[in-house]
Amino acid sequence: MPTTIAPSKHHKRETGANTKKFEELLLRERASLADERTRLRSRASDKGVSMPYEDGGDVDEGTVDLSNYLMAKEIDASVEESLEDTLHGIDLALRKIQKGTYGTCDICQKRIPKARLEAIPHATLCMNCQSLVEEF
Ligand SMILES: [Zn+2]
Repeated sequence: MPTTIAPSKHHKRETGANTKKFEELLLRERASLADERTRLRSRASDKGVSMPYEDGGDVDEGTVDLSNYLMAKEIDASVEESLEDTLHGIDLALRKIQKGTYGTCDICQKRIPKARLEAIPHATLCMNCQSLVEEF
C-alpha cells in the first residue's frame, strides 16, 4: 500500500492535544469492546448449559426454546461480527494516531470534521467517502 508518511519527528502537530484525547477514547472503547467480545465468546461456548430440561418442566417446550436459543446464538454471532468490525476500525484509528494522520480521510485525505470524530472516534473516512464505500 502506498502510504507516504512524512517523518516529522520533532514537529508538533496542531492536532496534538486533541489526538491524545481521542487516543484515550479509542483505547477505552477498545477495552470495553474486547470485554464484550470475551463475554459473547464464553456464552457461545456455553453450548447446552442454558438449554431446557433443567427445571424438569414441560419437555415439549424444548423445541421452542431450542429455536429461541439458536436465534439468540445467531444474534450473538452478528453482534460479534460488528464488534470485530469496530475493533478493527479502532485499531486502524490508533495506527493513524501513531502515524500522525488521525483525523484525515483515508480516501480523499481531507480533514474529517471534528464533530464526526467526536461521535465516532474510530472514523477513518469523511462522511462523503464513507457513504461512497457503503454504496458498494
Ligand atoms: Zn474522504
